[in-house]
Amino acid sequence: GLSGKELRSTRRRMQMIFQDPLSSLDPRQNVESIIAEGIEAHGLASGRDGARKRIVELLDAVGLPSSALRRYPHEFSGGQRQRIGIARALAVEPDLVVADEPVSALDVSVQAQVVTLLEELQRQLGLTFLVIAHDLAVVRHISETVGVMYLGALVEEAGSDELYAQPLHPYTRALMSAVPVPDPEVEDRRERILLTGDLPSPANPPTGCRFHTRCPWRQPTRCDTERPEMRELMAGHKVACHWAEDISDLKLHPKSADEVAAEQGVYVASTGGLDAGQLLDSGRDQAATNF
Ligand code: SF4
Repeated sequence: GLSGKELRSTRRRMQMIFQDPLSSLDPRQNVESIIAEGIEAHGLASGRDGARKRIVELLDAVGLPSSALRRYPHEFSGGQRQRIGIARALAVEPDLVVADEPVSALDVSVQAQVVTLLEELQRQLGLTFLVIAHDLAVVRHISETVGVMYLGALVEEAGSDELYAQPLHPYTRALMSAVPVPDPEVEDRRERILLTGDLPSPANPPTGCRFHTRCPWRQPTRCDTERPEMRELMAGHKVACHWAEDISDLKLHPKSADEVAAEQGVYVASTGGLDAGQLLDSGRDQAATNF
């Protein structure tokens, strides 16, 4: 464990941005006192005037006017509140900012603005962001490196462009195949990998490969009994799947959702499997990313 002092300095170096800005901001504090807290706790400005000057700079950095100082969280829109949350995180000059679903609670029209702001801040301040998100478009946009998690464990890790161009893990393939393509011709030919069955409990994951109960490429018996390690198949591209090479070389072919269901003894409605929305909104499958 860390001592009190170490914990304090670690906390300062690592800050969080939360999914729901309203519930993460104290409704009884105005913006000035919300942001001042961290600055004062870590002695980062001298006196009230110094702190206020710093807060105005931070508000400016996140695109809010200095008139925001005296206002309260409920007086702002969702996107503005997320900007306040970002300013609060930046106030203590962190090295790493962990953003847990930073835009998923915002209107789609506002999401892009907040993503752009995060990118600008990352460039200007040399920050590292660790972004946890389900929305693959957001992940792709803001990440240099993407790690894909299934049931709380990393199953694939690669540079963002590489991962989207050549997903290797069956779960990543299924996630990618659920994302619609804007080009209608490509969209028509797009291969969709439907997953079947319920998501098992992360507290009690399946034996062998965690994904074997839903994997269209599952092979007897290794997938059921032997936990695949992360292996680096290409420079900077790691995957935890026993059969990744054969799947990639098309030596193995995926079973349909119905076949997987029959093998696992689960019933699938005639429309088959999960649709993209369900898959991405399940709230439990996770893609963690950083850049
Ligand atoms: S190890 Fe087997 S079950 Fe797991 S992802 Fe690879 S093919 Fe599927």
